[in-house]
Amino acid sequence: MKRNYQKIILVVLDGLRPDTVTLARMPHLFGLAAEGWQADAAITVTPSITVAALTSLATGLTPAEHGVTRPGLPPLARLPGLRPLPRELRQLGVSTTVHLPVLGAGARWIAGALLRVGGVTRLCARGTTPASVVEFARQQVEGNRHREFVVVYLNDTDVAGHAWGWMSGPYLQAAARLDRAVARLAPLARARDTLLLVTADHGGGGVDPRDHDALHPLNRRVPLIAAGAGIAAGQAGRLPTHLLDIPPTVLNGFGGTSPAQYAGRVLHEAFSEELVPACG
Ligand SMILES: [Zn+2]
Repeated sequence: MKRNYQKIILVVLDGLRPDTVTLARMPHLFGLAAEGWQADAAITVTPSITVAALTSLATGLTPAEHGVTRPGLPPLARLPGLRPLPRELRQLGVSTTVHLPVLGAGARWIAGALLRVGGVTRLCARGTTPASVVEFARQQVEGNRHREFVVVYLNDTDVAGHAWGWMSGPYLQAAARLDRAVARLAPLARARDTLLLVTADHGGGGVDPRDHDALHPLNRRVPLIAAGAGIAAGQAGRLPTHLLDIPPTVLNGFGGTSPAQYAGRVLHEAFSEELVPACG
């Protein structure tokens, strides 16, 4: 079934482990998951690092295919036949806007990588706190009546994880800040035509308590939560779910079809069957 959202908002919380999303630690995100749909056990790409994961989200390809597997590599190889998600969306009349915190070194690198992939309409690197980044995103979404894919990237949990360790006190405080920020976006998902997706690019603390690149379940597991109109409310997805399922699901959400080369699948089980329009 094809869907026809007006807005899809994808929130990427860098380094957020799914076991952080509890009622006590992240009540807003926990509530969003409880009211919406969440994958039981979603995993990210290999290697479980930001640059590989974001490039996979932008291209629909595995890191083995796109080749961007560590920071500092030259720009994304000019892969023949590369069909980045923002460019596919543009063909459907959907623009793509990316909201990031004000550019530090890491964010600057990510911004560059996203721009190199191509097709991103707007890159907004404003705001120094999660709340202010989200506020810019919220205002922009509300002020734009056209169809739009909005990515909000926040990295407080990754920064705290590298500095103090995953699940440390400062890490959990960072998660709480992100939770309060995401709460400001949640009302948008009550619109009739908006889908809100929340995920992470990787976990952390699997082998090295302050890192996330080793092949370990704690590094590979990510939250994947969907809320909004047409979502199977209160459901948990039992099928294997991968970060790479997000690009096909976003394309499907705007009524499009994924290029054959996209590695993931549409997360049909996240949507409510009841909302399939009856004919006649
Ligand atoms: Zn990191």
